[in-house]
Amino acid sequence: MADTIFDRIIRREIPADIVYEDDAILAFRDIAPAAPVHVLFIPKKPIATLNDATDADAALIGKLVLAATRWAKAQGFADKGYRLVTNCNQDGGQTVFHIHVHLLAGRQMHWPPG
Ligand code: AMP
Repeated sequence: MADTIFDRIIRREIPADIVYEDDAILAFRDIAPAAPVHVLFIPKKPIATLNDATDADAALIGKLVLAATRWAKAQGFADKGYRLVTNCNQDGGQTVFHIHVHLLAGRQMHWPPG
């Protein structure tokens, strides 16, 4: 899989505003926030898109979502609400080909999304 900007953030080759890290997951603030809170949760394992995740990644994908929800609770806005989004490929609007979950919060979200 091709190296992405997120791999460079994992390796600390470029700076990021990191808010959470464990052995499998890193989370940092989005450089172009779409909401008052906009954090990206990524696995340290490079998986390009949701289409590339396999059964072997089931626990990792679960950890990714749970890390985001746990962080939302710790930050105190979980009860008010938030949105988790994963874009996949061109029609999904994916631009960085390393799986990530967007955590968006701090404003009213709308549906359907653009
Ligand atoms: P997506 O379009 O779903 O692939 O999301 C990629 C996200 O990565 C976008 O919201 C970008 O603003 C964000 N992004 C790109 N480069 C960086 C960076 N160096 N640091 C933080 N976020 C970034």
